[in-house]
Amino acid sequence: MRTHNNGQLRLENVDETVTLVGWVAKKRNFGKMVFIDLRDRYGKTQLVFNESFHDAVKDVRNEYVIQVSGKVVERQDYNEDLATGKIEIAVESLEVINEAKTTPLIIDEETDALEGVRMKYRYLDLRRPNMQANLIRRSDITASIREYLHAQDFVDIETPILGLSTPEGARDYLVPSRNYAGEFYALPQSPQLFKQLLMISGFERYYQIARCFRDEDLRADRQMEFTQVDLEMSFMSEVEIQTMAEEMMKKVFKDVLDVDLQIPFARMTWHDAMNSYGSDKPDTRYGMEFVDLKDVFVNTEFKVLKSALDGGAIKGIVVNDHADISRKGIDKLLDIVKSHGGMGILDLKYLEGKLDGRILKFFSEEEIEQLEAKLGLKENDLVLIVSGDWEVSCTALGAVRSFLAQEKGLIDEDAFNFLWVNEFPLLEYSAEDDRYYARHHPFTRPMDEDIDKLDTHPGEVKAYAYDMILNGYELGGGSLRNYSTKSQTKLFEVLGFTEEEIRSQFGFFVDAFEYGTPPHGGIAFGLDRIAMLMSKEPSIREVIAFPKNAQAKDPMTDAPSKPAPAQLEELHLSVKEKKQQ
Ligand code: ASP
Repeated sequence: MRTHNNGQLRLENVDETVTLVGWVAKKRNFGKMVFIDLRDRYGKTQLVFNESFHDAVKDVRNEYVIQVSGKVVERQDYNEDLATGKIEIAVESLEVINEAKTTPLIIDEETDALEGVRMKYRYLDLRRPNMQANLIRRSDITASIREYLHAQDFVDIETPILGLSTPEGARDYLVPSRNYAGEFYALPQSPQLFKQLLMISGFERYYQIARCFRDEDLRADRQMEFTQVDLEMSFMSEVEIQTMAEEMMKKVFKDVLDVDLQIPFARMTWHDAMNSYGSDKPDTRYGMEFVDLKDVFVNTEFKVLKSALDGGAIKGIVVNDHADISRKGIDKLLDIVKSHGGMGILDLKYLEGKLDGRILKFFSEEEIEQLEAKLGLKENDLVLIVSGDWEVSCTALGAVRSFLAQEKGLIDEDAFNFLWVNEFPLLEYSAEDDRYYARHHPFTRPMDEDIDKLDTHPGEVKAYAYDMILNGYELGGGSLRNYSTKSQTKLFEVLGFTEEEIRSQFGFFVDAFEYGTPPHGGIAFGLDRIAMLMSKEPSIREVIAFPKNAQAKDPMTDAPSKPAPAQLEELHLSVKEKKQQ
């Protein structure tokens, strides 16, 4: 239907006769002449219609699909913003292929349409050039990933969608079985068990761009269904697995964004990440690292700090040039601390060469001196101190740190700061349930040096578990796995599974281990997040063609919906009225 696309023609094409098709992006009447910007996925080209087309173009409106033929001519005024901006088409023939109603949202880079409208008319939203660029970029990312993995001998293997659930810690989606009344398949939270079984089968290197399903509340970076780049490898050390993942990222960033990443990425233990940034996914694009102040206050009688000396933490951060913070500003920080379980936040200012603040009266001369020396203060600095339980204080101050970085615009939006966080704790204690849960998943291998603590101090056991972090987001996470029946069974026990439960839930898996299991490990990346960050978008909804909204609905198709009574009957189901909350 065409000789060229709408992003293609240049000065060297002048005098050629061409045929173009596309959508009418904009129409302008200039007296006898009419100008139309014709759009397709490749770009825009300006069409010029002379007087003889007066009647033919009169009714052509935005988003009509048209086909034109004509001569490429040099423009009088170049449009430097457009790749085709030096030429235009002097139209010789026009065919209107299809008409279009007035669209409910403007089809352009910028739209002021509300998200509800954008999602209801997603097919039009996806006609906008920036949404097309996002999805094309995403496709470039997966193409680059596949290219890399294929070259490294990875085998792309699909695993079931209808199956048995893998415990990744979220709620399952269940699918009722028609054949077996009362029985359900679970949609995979990840292909975890299957990819490990494929190692037992001997594939050595598996990958899959896999859809995963987790019934959780949605957020900007979370959807009920999402896509993982899922990898598993045999006979490789933690560092070798990480190197493979780094090289893959390096290629993807080069291929897609022409950005050169430096590898190996920085590495930080989970403890150091928490201790210095108050997050297991620290954003290292800006400073404000924590300063440990415990030794300054070893002899304090100030209750707030004294109570943290034994087993707790006293952490400070310095915020440059922020001594002019208002009372309201401090109250906001206090709210953040409290929402993370902290008790309070102490603030001091460095003005006219000395510390100043209401709480100074609780500090001795020596403490003040030490504090100043340790924090390396400059005029107008604000000092914030949080104390109490180590994890709570670190997390609370970490949230303050990232809030202030946003507020003060300290973040270099062009930077890509990668980092590995490793040595995650194996388990997480739930006071509510009075038991331990796997922090990653129950197949993660404890570090050899900590095995003895599994019975005595389970909370202190570290794991061969690692996350790849980019700009404060977890891009991916993985671990080495237990590969002996003994260690896997031990872990199930520590997690409180009875022998019967192990058999009924993981019998096939434990059995498989008895037939020669290679040491193995892997990682899974969130493809949606990678695409979001590489597109500099604030939400993964901007890089998913047909996402759900924050209420877990699809406003376009109206899913979920009520099935017909006959369908329920066939599935042996009846629906209860929803209880009033
Ligand atoms: N299945 C894990 C997850 O989804 C990733 C892994 O351990 O490879 O988090």
